[in-house]
Amino acid sequence: MGTNARQQAIQAIAAARHTLNNHDFRTEHLKDLFGAAVFHEEEQKARLPKPVFKALQKTIKLGVPLDSTVADAVASAMKDWAIEHGATHYTHLFQPMTGLTAEKHDSFLSPTGTGRAIAEFSGKELVKGEPDASSFPSGGIRATFEARGYTGWDPTSPAYIRETPNGATLVIPTVFVSWTGEALDKKTPLLRSMEALSVQALRILRLFGNTEAKKVFTTVGPEQEYFLIDKNFLFARPDLMNAGRTVFGAKPPKGQELEDQYFGTIPERVIACMADAEAEMFKLGIPVKTRHNEVAPSQYEIAPIFEDSNLATDHNQLCMDVLRRTAEKYDLVCLMHEKPFAGINGSGKHNNWSMSTDSGENLLNPGDTPHDNAQFLVFCVAVIRAVAKYPELLRVSVASAGNDHRLGANEAPPAIISIFLGDQLQDVMEQLEANALKSTKQGGYMEVGVTVLPKLPKDAGDRNRTSPFAFTGNKFEFRAVGSSFSIAGPNTVLNTIVAESLDFIATALEKATGGDLSKLNKALQDLMPGILKESKKVIFNGDGYSEEWHKEAERRGLPNLKNTVDAIPTIISKASIDLFGKYKVFTERELQARYTIFCESYVKTVNIEANLMVSMAKTMILPAAVRYQGEVATAVNASKAAGVDCAAQLDHLKELTTTLTTFQKALAALEKAHGHHADGTPYDHAKHFRDHVLPKMVELRTAADTLETMVADDLWPLPTYREMLFIK
Ligand code: ADP
Ligand code: MG
Repeated sequence: MGTNARQQAIQAIAAARHTLNNHDFRTEHLKDLFGAAVFHEEEQKARLPKPVFKALQKTIKLGVPLDSTVADAVASAMKDWAIEHGATHYTHLFQPMTGLTAEKHDSFLSPTGTGRAIAEFSGKELVKGEPDASSFPSGGIRATFEARGYTGWDPTSPAYIRETPNGATLVIPTVFVSWTGEALDKKTPLLRSMEALSVQALRILRLFGNTEAKKVFTTVGPEQEYFLIDKNFLFARPDLMNAGRTVFGAKPPKGQELEDQYFGTIPERVIACMADAEAEMFKLGIPVKTRHNEVAPSQYEIAPIFEDSNLATDHNQLCMDVLRRTAEKYDLVCLMHEKPFAGINGSGKHNNWSMSTDSGENLLNPGDTPHDNAQFLVFCVAVIRAVAKYPELLRVSVASAGNDHRLGANEAPPAIISIFLGDQLQDVMEQLEANALKSTKQGGYMEVGVTVLPKLPKDAGDRNRTSPFAFTGNKFEFRAVGSSFSIAGPNTVLNTIVAESLDFIATALEKATGGDLSKLNKALQDLMPGILKESKKVIFNGDGYSEEWHKEAERRGLPNLKNTVDAIPTIISKASIDLFGKYKVFTERELQARYTIFCESYVKTVNIEANLMVSMAKTMILPAAVRYQGEVATAVNASKAAGVDCAAQLDHLKELTTTLTTFQKALAALEKAHGHHADGTPYDHAKHFRDHVLPKMVELRTAADTLETMVADDLWPLPTYREMLFIK
């Protein structure tokens, strides 16, 4: 055996023994674990004086501001609780526009002035923090003189304990804003969009005679896909290490064609890792429910029970974090990238979404009575209208350099945004629309508010996996979200566009009924068909991967924003500025900032990948290929000298040399394209990378992957797909 990095990795894996029983559920009970590390409602109730507890609950559930004495009391109880759990520090956790989470730790330590110290934590420290955050992307919002944005406590997402090897940290979820109040993070706009939707949804509920509901929440259950491979491979693959995906790698002899992975038996080391990660998540109060093998080899999925969008977003960030950290304990690495391996399935995040009242009524649940059905139809039609009106915004909410490898390829939803309704609901919508034309003469047609809907199947077998946006019985599933994304962005868009539709419908209905609820059915009958007529172009129940659909979508005038660079300008379109401005989710300046950050982040990502390709090509692949070329040439010469026929070896040498020449030319071309930077705006740079750098990366990869199939195995330095995906 040789000793290159690849061979060492395989030897290390073969020799490794792992401890697989870090958690033993024969002695640990789920119900004891769940929420053990969270300062949840029960814990608050037990530790806070009654009036303080009540005030805090009012803040959490209804958004009532908290006064400073209450904040002091909460902080003090939180600190005592945290210290009992081994905490020495606290941190304001925030979600900057990198899509990751950020934190700075401060200790509870407070010197007494007598040479000793006590632990202290004030309401002021709980409520507001000032991280030195000048190096987070702000898209130009924060000039250096006002560099210090601040973090503000989000009481609707409970504080929790993060255990570390030596103790623990109290983690306080926060928003991150500039001193002028502009959002510098992903949470602030999400909260604003939830508020906007709540206001509009309540107007609809009042029209249906609901006087009880105080708030409407959007709910989300994100299904998270990821890969787990042995960590030793990572050390031998600079691309996986720095870009999270392989920029080289020939197709393995066996891929996913046998379809033997999906829902297959989970390998032992992997299931131990999953169980460990789940135990950590239970402690953090994340209601994880489902785990299984995914379609690609070494690909898995984890899904929680849905929660309100804010909590679901925080919990999904935590879920990714826990998965990454737990994987390390098992010498595995968790890959969250949308496309770590070319040619086999990538990873996404199905964003299951609905709306719910504060008493837990799911507004996308059809219900059993005509009244409930009518209300359901209004909310459902509002969603359809929203997606039909703003498909570009949904598209850009899932755009990234990573997701570009996935969307539109034949394994993930197409880049064309359309809605799948399923046969039954489709039929209902058609009748609803037809009603306007056929009027009451057609006794067979349904009348909103009078007819009971047929039962809509939940989880029907015919669920269309090729649709980016599907109705699944009592919720919609937005399937185009990338696996590494924060779900805050897509949900901010979804909430806002639906808020706009609910606003539109509520305004029309309020006008038509003049406050007389007995006129509601007639008003609905008059209003809905027109909306459906306008919006139905976005409904498509067929195969979203097919060529015909692409043509049909074009005929219907649906946008097909094929890649991130095509999608980015949508952010600062007039429609976007008007919409987000009207519902106070983003100011124009905030959108401008996000537009800049999108461009920059695209450029940075592709730039890193191009750098990696050049350096790996030069220092790993080229030397291996040249060494092998030398070996073959030596053999040819020796054969000739010995006077034997070596025509076949000579052919091989020629073929190898031709491929190597192609490879070196592609390498030079990539270096040239990459070295030449476009002048101008961040958007010009993004276009340059898409149009000039990416195509050269593809050419270089093709040549390198051919070399991988020719060069002697013992000389090839990079772990192959066959090894990374199948050696466990
Ligand atoms: P699958 O799509 O794999 O068949 P389910 O349909 O049962 O599984 O659920 C998928 C995800 O949708 C889960 O995370 C679940 O909690 C979530 N979900 C179910 N109901 C809602 C809802 N009302 N709002 C948001 N998410 C929901
Ligand atoms: Mg699903």
